[in-house]
Amino acid sequence: MISARPVQGTFRRLRWWANAILIALLFAVPWVRIGGQPLVLLDVPARRFHVFGLTIFPQELYFLWLIVAALAFALFFFTALAGRLWCGWACPQTVFTDVFAAVARRIQGWSRGGPPARIAAWRRVATHAAWIGLSAVVGFHLVGYFRSPYEILGAVRAGDLHGASMAFWAAGTALCYFDFAVVRQTFCKYLCPYARFQGVLFDRDTLVVAYDAGRGEPRGKKGTVDGDCVDCHLCVEVCPTDIDIRQGLQLECIACTQCIDACDGVMDQVGRPSKLIGYRSLRGLEGAGTARLARPRVLVYGTALVLAGVVFATLLAARKPLAMQVAHNPASLFQKMADGRVGNAFTLHLQNRDRTDRVFRLQLKPAGEYDLVSGMNPLLIPATSSLETRVFVIARDPDVNGGALRQVTFVLEELEHPDRRVERTSSFMLPQWVGGGGSR
Ligand code: SF4
Ligand code: SF4
Repeated sequence: MISARPVQGTFRRLRWWANAILIALLFAVPWVRIGGQPLVLLDVPARRFHVFGLTIFPQELYFLWLIVAALAFALFFFTALAGRLWCGWACPQTVFTDVFAAVARRIQGWSRGGPPARIAAWRRVATHAAWIGLSAVVGFHLVGYFRSPYEILGAVRAGDLHGASMAFWAAGTALCYFDFAVVRQTFCKYLCPYARFQGVLFDRDTLVVAYDAGRGEPRGKKGTVDGDCVDCHLCVEVCPTDIDIRQGLQLECIACTQCIDACDGVMDQVGRPSKLIGYRSLRGLEGAGTARLARPRVLVYGTALVLAGVVFATLLAARKPLAMQVAHNPASLFQKMADGRVGNAFTLHLQNRDRTDRVFRLQLKPAGEYDLVSGMNPLLIPATSSLETRVFVIARDPDVNGGALRQVTFVLEELEHPDRRVERTSSFMLPQWVGGGGSR
C-alpha cells in the first residue's frame, strides 16, 4: 500500500533536497568520463573496475575490498552516532520508493486526507505506466554502473534489441519495478540485512527518532489529559512502515522523520512545544543526561575507518603504473637450435594501469647472456589496458656454469620515463636441467 502524503515540515524539506542531490548524483555518475575513462564502472567482462579515477585490475582487488570495508565502517560509525541515518536519508530503497509513491499520489489525485474514495481505472493504468517508465530510467542507470550507458544507447540505436546490453537493461527495469512499486518498504521491514543487525550498533547514546513518553503521556484529547499527545494518530498515518513510534524504538523504524514533521504540525496547531517526537538518545529520554559523542564503539568504528583510509592511501602511493606477469610456455619448455643454442618461449601479461596510452620497452637481464626475440618491442599499451605477448629468449651460451639452473629477468620500462619499470624473474630451462636432450 502506498504510504500517506508526507506532512510538510523542516525534515521534509531537508530530505527533499537530500533526495534530489542523491538522485542527481546516482544518475550523473555513470555518464562522467575523465580523460576518456569512466568515473565509475564495474566492468566485470573486461575484469576492470573504474572507481573515481582509479582503475583496479583483478590483481588489485584489495583496493575494492578496502573501499567496501571503509564504507561498512562509515556505516557503523554513523549508525552508532545517529541511528539509521543511511536508511532514512540516503538509501536508494527509501529514496526511490518515496519517488514512486509521490508519482502515484499525484496521478491518482490524493488529497491531504488520503486517496480519493474511488480511483478511476485509467488513473491506475497511468500509475503503472509511469512506474514502468521510471523503472526503465532507474534500471538504465543502475545497469550503467556495470555496462557503459553509452554502449547501451549504442545498442539501442543500432537496433540490437537481443544483445546483452538490452537484456541487462530489461532485467534492471523489472527489478526496479518489482522493488519500488510492489515490495516497497516491506524490503526494509523483513528483507534488509542491515535492519537485522543495526540494533547491535546502537547504545544508549545513539540518536534515534523517538517519542517523549514522559511529556506525551497520558495521551488524549486536549484539555482532558495532562500529556501533550492528543492521540490524533497522524504520526502513525504518515509512517511508511506502519508502526506507532509511541510504542518505543522498533526494528521497523527507518528514521525517515515523517512522524516528526507530522507531530510538529499538530503541536503547532494545539499551541504546544514542538519535538514531542524528535531525534534524541535513550539516555536523554531516561533523564540521565545528554548523549555522549566519544564512546568506545564510536571510537572503535572511527579508528577502523581511519585505518582503512590510511592503508588505502599507502597502497595507492606505492602502486606502480605498470605490471607484468611472466609464464613459461607449457607446451615447449625449451628448444634446441641448429647452432647448439637453447631457447625458451614465454608468455608475458603486461598492464598499463595509467589513464594515458604508454609505450614500453622490454629488456632482459643479465645483459649479454640472452637474446630476446619479440614480434614487437617497444610495445604500445593503451590506457588502463592489458596486453598479452609471446617472446622467445635464446641463451647465448647454454653450457655456461656447466648447464646449471639459470634465471632470466624480464625488465619492462616506460620509454619516456625509464625509472617507471618492473622486473620479473623466471627460470630458464636447459636440456640438462630438464633431463632431456632435445626439444620439448
Ligand atoms: S516511526 Fe517515524 S521515523 Fe520511524 S519509519 Fe515511521 S515515520 Fe519514519
Ligand atoms: S502526531 Fe503527535 S500528537 Fe498526534 S498521535 Fe502522534 S505523537 Fe500524538
